Amino acid sequence: MLVAYVKRETAYMKRQGRMNRLALYLLVVTSILGVCLAHAAEDVPKNIILFIGDGMGVSQVTAGKITKGTLNLERFKVVGLLTTFAHNALVTDSAAAGTALATGFKTVNGAISVSPDGRPIKTIVEYAEAAEKSTGIAVSCSVTHATPACFLAHVDNRSKDALIAEHIASSGIDVLFGGGAAWFLPMSAKGSKRQDEKNLATHMAKRMKVIGSVNEFQSLNDVDAVAGFFAEEQPGGVSERKPSLPELTRRAIIILSKNKNGFFLMVEGSQIDWGGHAKDMNYIISEMVDFDNAVGVGLDFAKQNPQTLVVATADHETSGFAIHDGSVDVRKVTTVGHTSGGHTAAMVPVFAYGPGSSAFAGIADNTSIGRIIIGYLQKANEKPPED
Ligand SMILES: [Zn+2]
Repeated sequence: MLVAYVKRETAYMKRQGRMNRLALYLLVVTSILGVCLAHAAEDVPKNIILFIGDGMGVSQVTAGKITKGTLNLERFKVVGLLTTFAHNALVTDSAAAGTALATGFKTVNGAISVSPDGRPIKTIVEYAEAAEKSTGIAVSCSVTHATPACFLAHVDNRSKDALIAEHIASSGIDVLFGGGAAWFLPMSAKGSKRQDEKNLATHMAKRMKVIGSVNEFQSLNDVDAVAGFFAEEQPGGVSERKPSLPELTRRAIIILSKNKNGFFLMVEGSQIDWGGHAKDMNYIISEMVDFDNAVGVGLDFAKQNPQTLVVATADHETSGFAIHDGSVDVRKVTTVGHTSGGHTAAMVPVFAYGPGSSAFAGIADNTSIGRIIIGYLQKANEKPPED
């Protein structure tokens, strides 16, 4: 009888043991699955803000830090480096580099989001539109200039501003801030640079508010789509630029973030590059600090809205900029050198913050920026299957 009892108990304990193991197994599996699912959802950002410092190499960032003390760029936790070469040259121009960032593909210098043989390549902005997100561009140059053009146009040569403006006018962009009004007005209008009578501003006004002054910008109320041109062609430097790049960034985010599906915004500090071409240290530094202030606006939003990925990078380095003397104590760069008045092939930094940011760590090619962001937008666009 005792033997039978012991056998029964042993069988019971074995069953219990199996059940306990099964329960433990199920717990582990569901936990892993839960973590994976949560991780997958967490890694696809709802909002993406891409900051591009044109010509912003590591020395430009360093000079900004020496002058400003602490940069907003230091708030990023993920840092990497990018190679920038073009399809046909070791040293890229802003068009080929802009195409790599905007599409994830290499092209030849001068080309605006077309392949080396001239075929259009779909941009981040177009993928964002497909995912029903709002889209915005805010720059401190003409909106037809190479970097913004790569997000809004498909043209074989960056010098075709009039054609680029036509692509921009027929794009689906929701917020567009920068200079370049001259390319959107008919030849007969004062200040126009067009060789035809196309009035692109009027065409755009059919679907968005079109403004051309600081006053109109400041009194902008509840709009869903706006194009603001604040210079006939290129806006001035930091001291004369109104609205400032941080102000444009803040306003763009307010408008774009109304979309419940999220948004993509590209902000370019366009003139760090021009300071390099001019071999002008103070120009480089003042533009670097202004760009960093705009980055701070994006990071503040991301901190309040954790579904936001912020990426800050450059298209290339300009002027082989080097710092030879100065002082951290008095926050001053005193002696610098420039190896060239043009671009260099030096790797550029990339900084990332928020969901999906870990993909930007390490050394990669500039095409990785377009590819990673487009990957997130494609995931965001995957609709759940119908019942
Ligand atoms: Zn550039």
